[in-house]
Amino acid sequence: MKLYNTLTRQKEEFVPINGNQVKMYSCGPTVYNYAHIGNLRTYVFMDILRRTLKYNGYELLNVMNITDVGHLVSDEDEGEDKMVKGAREQKKTPWEIAEYYTDVFMEDIAALNIGRPEIIPKATDHIKEMISFVEGLLEKGYAYETSDGIYFDISKFDGYGKLSRLNLEEQMAGARVEVNDEKRHPADFALWKKAPKEHIMQWESPWGMGYPGWHIECSAMGRKYLGDRFDIHTGGVDHIPVHHENEIAQSEALLGEPAVNFWLHGEFMMVNNGKMSKSLGNTYTIANIKERGYNPLAFRYMCLNAHYRNKLNFTWDVMQASQVSYDRFIEGALQHKEGTAEIPDDVQTSFLTEFEDAINDDLNIPKALGIAWNMVRYPEKSKDIYELLLKMDDVFGLGIKYAEQKSAEEPELDAEIERLIEERQQARKEKNWKLSDEIRDKLKEMGIELQDTPQGVKWKRI
Ligand code: AMP
Ligand code: ZN
Repeated sequence: MKLYNTLTRQKEEFVPINGNQVKMYSCGPTVYNYAHIGNLRTYVFMDILRRTLKYNGYELLNVMNITDVGHLVSDEDEGEDKMVKGAREQKKTPWEIAEYYTDVFMEDIAALNIGRPEIIPKATDHIKEMISFVEGLLEKGYAYETSDGIYFDISKFDGYGKLSRLNLEEQMAGARVEVNDEKRHPADFALWKKAPKEHIMQWESPWGMGYPGWHIECSAMGRKYLGDRFDIHTGGVDHIPVHHENEIAQSEALLGEPAVNFWLHGEFMMVNNGKMSKSLGNTYTIANIKERGYNPLAFRYMCLNAHYRNKLNFTWDVMQASQVSYDRFIEGALQHKEGTAEIPDDVQTSFLTEFEDAINDDLNIPKALGIAWNMVRYPEKSKDIYELLLKMDDVFGLGIKYAEQKSAEEPELDAEIERLIEERQQARKEKNWKLSDEIRDKLKEMGIELQDTPQGVKWKRI
């Protein structure tokens, strides 16, 4: 399997550090608002990587954080905390805001058939780990204290800039940097901020009450759950110059060696060939997609049609076209289900080999989909093809199996119910009884009763 490593700007053969186990960290959402379709494209990319690794037989341990604190407005260190700003505008506490948007995010990723990462830690539960990370950096002389916080001294770290390959002036042109006389270098970034009294979210620390910088979150949680060194780190391309550059600096400074082998980044989603922004009113959500009558999986299909390292331009026309193609794809696949034609073994093997070569060539999913389409269009209907398509759908995640289970009267609903049940099973596995009960209640509202049986969960309409 080959993956494009941003660090080396090359496709490299992927070899895990530890045998068959793959440890992967994915930068998670900042939960002060709804995730927009651009954010979600990045999680579809994460999911495709998850599925491809599993398809190849790797055992995966994937951590995705929930940023529920300290992600300051834009990437620089000054400015108002996004959580606090969201809370003020919506007249709720930051904790309420975070909980609400975390739940919606989980529903969004379930609707897009994005697998839940094995561990989903919240930043606010890991303040202790972040503090000890900062202490380690201070001890090693990579950080210093000012009147308003603890800063990382980038001049002490030789490799600064190696991921983005930008010089400091170029990096700083991208990120507006606060004027702060006490900083040794303008690009030094906050590891910990001392909190003014009115700051809502704050914790005790050796440096008084305060809150963590955003970058330290990911370094501390990655280290806690994946260890000092792990295989893959993912995020969107916007994270390359500041967030991930800073993560590398912190982790490598503390450990004395690189923490991550492969850095993978998903390209941006554009809308009408421009940036998504609140002021343009084009930060669409999954709810917007559903409101217009589209299936979230048709949005997923749209994402699969572009390589993750290419920009993808969203328009409602493309959404409409994707829905049409998605329906045709699923219907076409289902037409093979009862097919009696026999497909010669060598033809089957060549379809599968082409598919595997594509996904293992830096996740060339558009090409893999093309191969699946050739099978859907195969002139004779064959159960063999159907079986192969199901196997490939382990990677695509387009829900061919759900479509098969659709009941005649309420097809969309059944898929949604199955998804919610799966989500509840996962919540129970994680001993998240609150979420599990919430899902049960939600299903009840939909008129669905659950029965836990030795054969698994059964459901019926009441
Ligand atoms: P945030 O919640 O702002 O931390 O963003 C969550 C994820 O979405 C990050 O991995 C970002 O890199 C990614 N992201 C933000 N905007 C876009 C976009 N327009 N297209 C694709 N990914 C994005
Ligand atoms: Zn991160």
